[in-house]
Amino acid sequence: MRLKYSRHCDVLVVGSGIAGIMAALAAAVAGRSVILASSGPVFSGSSFYPGTWGLGLIGPENEADQEDLVQSILEVGCGMADEAMVRAFVAGIAPAIEGVKAMGVQLKAAADQNQKDFIPCFDRKHRSWNGLLFDSMRQVFSRKMEESGVEQLPGCELLQLIKTDGRVSGAVVCCGKELTAIRCGALVLATGGYGGLFRDRLTTDDVAGAGQWLALEAGAELVNLEFMQMMPGYLNPCRKTIFNEKTFRYTRLTGPDGRDILENEPDRQALLECRSTHGPFTSRLISRRVDLAMVKAAQAAPEQGVTVTYGPEIRENTPEFVRTYFDWLWEKKHLTMDDPVQIAPFAHAANGGVRIDPNGFTGVPGLFACGEVTGGMHGADRIGGLSTANGLVFGRKAGESAAAFAAAQPVPRADGPVEFDARIIPDQAERRRRMQDVMSECGMVVRTGEALRQGMERLAQLADGCAFTEGDDATQIAASRRLWAQLHLAQAILSAQCMRTESRGSHYRADYPERNPAMERRILVRLEGSTARAAFEQNLAEERSEKQ
Ligand SMILES: Cc1cc2nc3c(=O)[nH]c(=O)nc-3n(C[C@H](O)[C@H](O)[C@H](O)COP(=O)(O)OP(=O)(O)OC[C@H]3O[C@@H](n4cnc5c(N)ncnc54)[C@H](O)[C@@H]3O)c2cc1C
Repeated sequence: MRLKYSRHCDVLVVGSGIAGIMAALAAAVAGRSVILASSGPVFSGSSFYPGTWGLGLIGPENEADQEDLVQSILEVGCGMADEAMVRAFVAGIAPAIEGVKAMGVQLKAAADQNQKDFIPCFDRKHRSWNGLLFDSMRQVFSRKMEESGVEQLPGCELLQLIKTDGRVSGAVVCCGKELTAIRCGALVLATGGYGGLFRDRLTTDDVAGAGQWLALEAGAELVNLEFMQMMPGYLNPCRKTIFNEKTFRYTRLTGPDGRDILENEPDRQALLECRSTHGPFTSRLISRRVDLAMVKAAQAAPEQGVTVTYGPEIRENTPEFVRTYFDWLWEKKHLTMDDPVQIAPFAHAANGGVRIDPNGFTGVPGLFACGEVTGGMHGADRIGGLSTANGLVFGRKAGESAAAFAAAQPVPRADGPVEFDARIIPDQAERRRRMQDVMSECGMVVRTGEALRQGMERLAQLADGCAFTEGDDATQIAASRRLWAQLHLAQAILSAQCMRTESRGSHYRADYPERNPAMERRILVRLEGSTARAAFEQNLAEERSEKQ
C-alpha cells in the first residue's frame, strides 16, 4: 500500500503519558513545531491509570542526598542499571520537579514525611516524596500545550517508523480509521511499557508493548527486558485495582481452602513486615516467600486468588499512607478495610526497554525515546516513585535533544509516498489472547527453563501460523501490525528470561533460585536480519571488536 504524508512537524512525539507530554512541551519550548500522537486519549497510559489516585514521585532530599540515591538505585538494580544513566537521572530529578511546580502542577506532600511508610519501595531511607495528582496535571499540561502550540492527535497509533538515508524521518500511523504518514525532523518514542503482552495486567490497554519492537526494527537496541515488576492487584471486587503493599503487615492471607497461606512459615510476621516495604515482587528479599505462596494459591484457584482480611491493628494507629489509600478506596470504589478482597499477581511496569543515552538518544539518528518504553536507568529492581521521575527527567531531555536534532538537520520535504505492508491477520484478536495467556503462564513471577522454552515455542507457532489477507480496513490493519510487533517482543522477552539462568531482583527462576555473581551482565536484544537476538552485553561487545 502506498501512503501519502498528511502532516509535517519538526518533532513527532508518540505517547501521551507523563514522558511524552514532558517531551512535547520541551520540544515546543525549544521553538519547534510539535505533534503529540497517542493511541489512547491525551493523558493516557499507565501515567493516568484509573485504578489509583495519582503518581508517587521521589527524588533526592537535597544535593547531599544525590550520591546516596545513586548508590541505592545501583544496589537495588543488582548490577543491571547503567551507572552513567543513573547519575544523569538522579541529577535531573530536582530540576524536573521544580519545572513541573513552576508550571503550576500541584504536588501532594506527605503530612509526616518521616513515617516509615514514606520510605520508597526497596529504598533504605526517606527521600523527597511528592504525589502528582491527575486532575492538576491534566489542567496544567493542557494549558501549557495549548499555549506552546503542541498539536494533539489522540486515537492515532504508530505502526511503523520511516527511515530516509539512515535517519528516522517519519511514521506510518492509523489515525481514527485512516492510515497515513507523518513526516518529522525527529521522533520521540514514549509509548510506555509492555503490560499489554500479559493477560493479567495492571496497566491500561493502550500500553500495548509494540513501541519497543518498532524501535528495534528501526535499529535500536533493547536492554533488561527480563526485568519487569509483578504487583499484587485486586481480582475481586473491582478487578485491576492496585493493592496497597504497606498493608501486608496487617493482613491474614488465605488460600482457596480457607487456610492461611503462610501457616507453615515460622517467621510469618517477619515475612509480612518485609513484604510491606515493597509493591512489586522481588527474588532478593525473604518476602519472596509471600509472593511464592500467593502464586501457588492463585494457580490453584485463578479466579479467586488469595483472600485478604485485616486484623484490628490496622485500625488502632493507621499510618497516613495507609489512611490516604483507604480514603481513596472508599471515595472511588466504595470499599473499606472491612471488605474482604481477593488478590493475585499482575504484570505491571517494565524496568527495561529501548536503550538510550543520558540525552534520550537511541543511537538511531532522529530517534529518541523516554519513559517506561526505555531501559538502562533502572536495573533488576526499581525504587518506587522513580518511574514517574524517569518520565519527567528523560521526557524533557529527549524532547530537548529531538528539538536540537530537528533544528540542525531538518528533514527534506520532498519525500515520495511511503510503502507500507498493509496486511490483515483475520484472527488477530484470538491470537493476541493466546499470546497473553502464554506470557501470563510462563513469564510472570515464577519462571522455569522448561516453561519458558515451551512458551517461546507457542509464541513462534502463533507468529508462524498467521495467515495474512489483503484488505483496506485501517483498524484491522493496525491491530494486525500491533499483534505482529507484540508477538515478536514477547518472544524476545521470554528468550531474555530463558537466558538468565539465575534469580536477580524481579527475575525469579524456580530452577535457579539464587543469584549468580557470574551473571552480573546485562542482556541486550537487537535485530539480526528479521530475527531478534538476545545476547549478553559483553559478548556483543567482544563480537563487535572481533569484526573491527
Ligand atoms: C496502577 C499504576 C500505578 C503506578 N504508580 C506509580 C507510582 O506511584 N510511582 C511511579 O514512579 N510509577 C508508578 N507507576 C509506573 C508509572 O506510572 C509508569 O511507568 C509511567 O507513568 C509510564 O509513563 P510513560 O509516559 O512512559 O508511559 P505511559 O504513561 O504508559 O503512556 C504511554 C502512552 O503511549 C501511548 N501508546 C502506546 N503505544 C502506542 C502506539 N503504538 N502508538 C501511539 N501511542 C501509543 C499510550 O496511549 C499512552 O499515551 C504506576 C503504574 C501503574 C499502572
